[in-house]
Amino acid sequence: MKTTRTNESAICKSCLTVLDAATSDENAVPSEGDITVCFYCTTVSKFDSELMLEPLNEFEQKQIQDDDPAMWGKIQHTIRQIKLFNDYKKKQN
Ligand SMILES: [Zn+2]
Repeated sequence: MKTTRTNESAICKSCLTVLDAATSDENAVPSEGDITVCFYCTTVSKFDSELMLEPLNEFEQKQIQDDDPAMWGKIQHTIRQIKLFNDYKKKQN
């Protein structure tokens, strides 16, 4: 697990939460074009050259599903994990 500070002005354009860090279970450091999942609302975005976030449009999502099914599976797995964690957290409060 590696967490990297990205851009302090980066926000998820869906839930408007500041996302100034990214965590990878493969110790990867984010760079332009990399895909990330919002920890708060699970919107799938990609990093631009300044590590700001742009949500994937339907075409881009379909492209990943067609061209890289393993990556798409990983994204879906990450979304499920985040939802489970957030449901668990809600029950604790
Ligand atoms: Zn979000």
